Amino acid sequence: MQWRVSTNGGSRMAASPEHAKRSRDGSRSRRVSDIPESSTVAIADLAARMRREGHKVIDFSAGRAAEHSPDLACEAAIEGLRSGQTHQTEARGRPEYLQACSDKLQRCNGLVLDPESNIIATLGCKQGLVLSLLASIDVGDEVIIEDPCFVSYAPTIRLLGGVPVIAPLNPENGFRWKSDDLQHAITDKTRVILYCSPHNPAGVVHTRDDLDVIAKIAVNHDLTVIADEIYEAVTWGGRSHIPISGLPGMESRTIGLMGMTKSYSMGGWRIGYAYAASHYIEAMTKLQQHLMTCAGSFTQLGAARALAEEVTKAMQPLWSDWEARCQYVTEVLNSHPLFSVVMPEGGFYAWVDMSKSGLSSRDFSARLIKEKQVAVVPGGSFGPASDNYIRITCVRSWDEVREGVSRVVDFAGAL
Ligand code: PMP
Repeated sequence: MQWRVSTNGGSRMAASPEHAKRSRDGSRSRRVSDIPESSTVAIADLAARMRREGHKVIDFSAGRAAEHSPDLACEAAIEGLRSGQTHQTEARGRPEYLQACSDKLQRCNGLVLDPESNIIATLGCKQGLVLSLLASIDVGDEVIIEDPCFVSYAPTIRLLGGVPVIAPLNPENGFRWKSDDLQHAITDKTRVILYCSPHNPAGVVHTRDDLDVIAKIAVNHDLTVIADEIYEAVTWGGRSHIPISGLPGMESRTIGLMGMTKSYSMGGWRIGYAYAASHYIEAMTKLQQHLMTCAGSFTQLGAARALAEEVTKAMQPLWSDWEARCQYVTEVLNSHPLFSVVMPEGGFYAWVDMSKSGLSSRDFSARLIKEKQVAVVPGGSFGPASDNYIRITCVRSWDEVREGVSRVVDFAGAL
């Protein structure tokens, strides 16, 4: 490791005019000013502000379900707080949380992982993404991502000095990569393929064949695969999530990202977990020591409770109801000639083709919130090829879903 020792007693030089020029958005770092804000979080914040100002906004923007976190998880966290479990934990996480993650991975995903070397507690899935990228790329390395993809992938890769390389998903192939799509994106700088299943925003649940395409390329080119599996518990129509880590040659090169935010409505807790071969987890633990010290102590206790079999079983009726809400949104929007939607296979978004409106996704969304007080996310935020779409979160309460979808249909009727 190299150090630079100050030779002038610690005094600092004034910022050069060149340095001052960097402050384009109030930030003094070009790295920050060069990335956009998160459109999903920014639109949800705007909707919250409009609501405080008295507008009857329906917020279909951020991926937040209407329901609260499971009672048993809340009780376990409260009990932890009351009994003094308020101190930092080991960097990798509390043994009981790591054990609960390992048990759940075996029970629900068929993966056998050692809680002492293959799992780390993260502060939500986003932080798992940061740790996994830092553990697998150097400055200038390329990471292949999808278009459409989660809005934070490209900005996060760029912040960490990597280069996001888009391999678009073709709607005609059901938003699934074919081998050539990936092959065209590979260079000698490619280090990682980052994909998401169940997919945000397109709702695809990867089949064994889809995963084979990714796995073969990863093995042939010696790449790391980061699998964002945050929606793994919510799959529809009898489908189930397949972890790519279980495919031949993939266990040693996959980092799986999971979390409590979506399926368990625990987004405000900022808790998740990542699993991988021990060499990745060791690297991610070292990073966690420096960056965050550890995930929250009592949030790990609550999450451990949520991952227990009885809670997973108790969630099933709610998850079925989410499927019914996705179905309802899909059917009502498809009944309007301006829209085309495929029922999501998993996750809880309707990915709505609104190209027949003749509006860009940004104009459509901006007018919708202004004229009908319905917040959605413009497709263009998910990638340059996705401007024909808007994304609607289907798991708001039934009242909001009915009222919001009817406003979207009214809006389309008046165009
Ligand atoms: N990955 C995907 C695909 C997501 O949709 C989200 C949340 N919208 C996240 C990661 C972030 O998860 P968390 O809130 O647990 O950090």
